[in-house]
Amino acid sequence: MNAPLRRAVSINYHFLRTTAPSQFALRAHETPERFDAQLAQISKRFPFCRADQLVDPTRELPDSSVMLTFDDGARDVTTWALPLLEKHGATASIFVCAQPYLEGRLLEIQKIEFLMKKLGIDAFRDAFYASYEHLFGTEIERESLDFAGGYGFYRYDDEAVRRFKLDLNYQIPYAQVVPILDALFAKTFGEGSEAEAVRETYLSADELKHLIDRGFELGVHTHRHRVLPRLDFEAQKQEIEIGATFLRDLIGQTEFTVAYPYGFHDENTHRAMRELGLRAGLTMERRAIEPSDLRDRWSIPRYDVNDCFDRESNQMLDAVFSQIAAGEAGCCSQRADE
Ligand SMILES: [Zn+2]
Repeated sequence: MNAPLRRAVSINYHFLRTTAPSQFALRAHETPERFDAQLAQISKRFPFCRADQLVDPTRELPDSSVMLTFDDGARDVTTWALPLLEKHGATASIFVCAQPYLEGRLLEIQKIEFLMKKLGIDAFRDAFYASYEHLFGTEIERESLDFAGGYGFYRYDDEAVRRFKLDLNYQIPYAQVVPILDALFAKTFGEGSEAEAVRETYLSADELKHLIDRGFELGVHTHRHRVLPRLDFEAQKQEIEIGATFLRDLIGQTEFTVAYPYGFHDENTHRAMRELGLRAGLTMERRAIEPSDLRDRWSIPRYDVNDCFDRESNQMLDAVFSQIAAGEAGCCSQRADE
């Protein structure tokens, strides 16, 4: 079947909240007030769609639409986003990792943020490298950043902070970072505090099922939020498969969209996606979704919310939405010729 000639802007969110409910404080990605105003603006100009609808050629959809996604499965989705989405008649695709549910563990990305907030970056960094030296020696082992293709990590941080964040998230082997973070977390927040942090941070299994009942899409954000291209083919496949199996067992669906953690993916990722029979893969490449992206479904681009609305006025940015605005007048409905 021909891929549809539709276009879309996909906007990604993570945490949407006003204040932290407890000591487990996370940087809010957006506030509910701003989100409310964003939905009001979008709904005047474009219909909303889910990722599974957008990539389905049999699905009737307008030429231009806006796809909202939430990564990391934050509880904020039901606490803050859901009432606003329903108020504006919007739908969304929500991507969750399996590890918090299967193992009762925080994803490293959130563990790092909790530690950074609680200790302050300098104390956290000193404690981390002291622990590294104690366990693994003074020579730090670093993996290549080649998978990122020159992507500018942490452009707004000073060099010491940038170096530290790269070590934590991308360069020191997982087998070394994970035990250090676990020990620092237990020491900082208390033994047994991780279960409480998991409950506060992520949607519960019941909340996930509730979202399905309300017409939202649940998608795979893998097992443990690892950077897929840092892993070999078999390990990538396993990360994706465990994430998909968890959701399949929970909600009974068999076909899923995947949001690649941090947006990174490579040929091995695509091969794993094909072999596992997955529907489509979402990246963090910042551009509008073109019809060609829906033919080769493994690298569908997404914007971050910060790319789409002015930080001051919260107005929709024309540079983003004008790319699909032609569809408002119906000019994109020429027939598929291939
Ligand atoms: Zn994520």
